[in-house]
Amino acid sequence: MVSNRTPEDIRDGRVMSGQAMFGTALGHERALGLDLWAGDCPPIEGMQVAVAGPGGEAAIRWAARLDTPARSVDQRLKMPAWMAEVERLGGKIIIHDATVDDLEAYAAQYDLVLVAAGKGPLASIFERDLPRSPYRAPQRALALTYVTGLAPRPGHSAVCFNLIPGVGEYFVFPALTVTGPCEIMVFEGLPGGPMDCWSDVRTPAEHLARSRWILETFLPWEAERCEGVELTDEGGVLSGRFTPVVRRPVATLPSGAPVLGAADVVVLNDPITGQGANNAAKCAASYLAAILERGEQSFDAAWMERTFARYWEDARHVTTWTNMLLAPPPPHVLRILAAAERLPEVASRFVNGFDDPADYAGWFTDPAGADEYLARVEG
Ligand SMILES: Cc1cc2nc3c(=O)[nH]c(=O)nc-3n(C[C@H](O)[C@H](O)[C@H](O)COP(=O)(O)OP(=O)(O)OC[C@H]3O[C@@H](n4cnc5c(N)ncnc54)[C@H](O)[C@@H]3O)c2cc1C
Repeated sequence: MVSNRTPEDIRDGRVMSGQAMFGTALGHERALGLDLWAGDCPPIEGMQVAVAGPGGEAAIRWAARLDTPARSVDQRLKMPAWMAEVERLGGKIIIHDATVDDLEAYAAQYDLVLVAAGKGPLASIFERDLPRSPYRAPQRALALTYVTGLAPRPGHSAVCFNLIPGVGEYFVFPALTVTGPCEIMVFEGLPGGPMDCWSDVRTPAEHLARSRWILETFLPWEAERCEGVELTDEGGVLSGRFTPVVRRPVATLPSGAPVLGAADVVVLNDPITGQGANNAAKCAASYLAAILERGEQSFDAAWMERTFARYWEDARHVTTWTNMLLAPPPPHVLRILAAAERLPEVASRFVNGFDDPADYAGWFTDPAGADEYLARVEG
């Protein structure tokens, strides 16, 4: 395993993600003995959805429970522990910023080379898949703020997901970070809008102050929870933006050797639906099954294509649904979100779709399916 950051760099560095993971993805970690924080990490028991109305009130607000709790373990805790686990099991970790020349050397030496370089420049050796990549620019200005002292919502814990029409989205949920339990705030501002407001922020304290300003301005019911908030640590803030993209799964090196892309390298969605770390776990589980099934046969380019196609069969639903939420909500989505306030079954189905986004295909991402489903539930 090659990493351009040491475990200490990762642990002592800046947060990179919200990394909330749902039951299926957590199950993949558990199956491999990698779910090391289930006892310490506060569970996320459900989801609350609110849509801000024009007068500073929530026009829509409801909550439902997840069938299996979600969890978010700061990758600054998780990755160093997993790197130690790789070494304990006899794997070797090389700290190095891998280049194409390095990939050539690994491809000559090993049966299979996987590239899981996230948003790093190495991902660009994989071609953009044009029909699956509608965007040429970032769709949101993103920010993360890790805090303690946030007042819990009444009832069960939840991802509190807030939509501010024409401005952006804000979600907040319990997590475990390097200093202990915390809450993670994720800001998604429409580019050029009032929540695209991080470029002049210079210090972590200013970042926290800007986070509070957003909530006080657009989401007073969330601001109320923040009277006592403090940053978890100086590294608990991030702002930035990137363009969502789906890439071709196989890159051919100058020598002709193929390498297979994994997780964000091949399917990079906006974090609005909180799926990237879930997808990474699902991609790893799917690739692992394909590797084991292959037995002694070679991992050639055709096998790589088929292996990705199997993963994409699930991941395509995540991409369709995520891209749909980046656009202004179509009428049928507004109908679903409003109906969920009256109909617990609709609320529950929407919330549990975060664990299995393939379920959205029949009713959420398809207007005719939505009308038919709502008519059936309403009786
Ligand atoms: C603001 C924000 C909020 C998010 N919230 C959520 C959420 O709530 N739930 C969720 O599921 N997902 C979330 N995500 C997405 C999630 O974090 C990513 O999708 C996930 O981490 C992708 O995993 P990965 O292994 O593909 O890449 P990464 O986690 O980026 O890991 C790639 C690793 O490769 C290393 N690397 C890169 N280039 C090289 C090189 N050349 N040589 C060696 N090493 C290299 C990097 O240092 C890094 O350690 C969020 C993302 C953002 C930006």
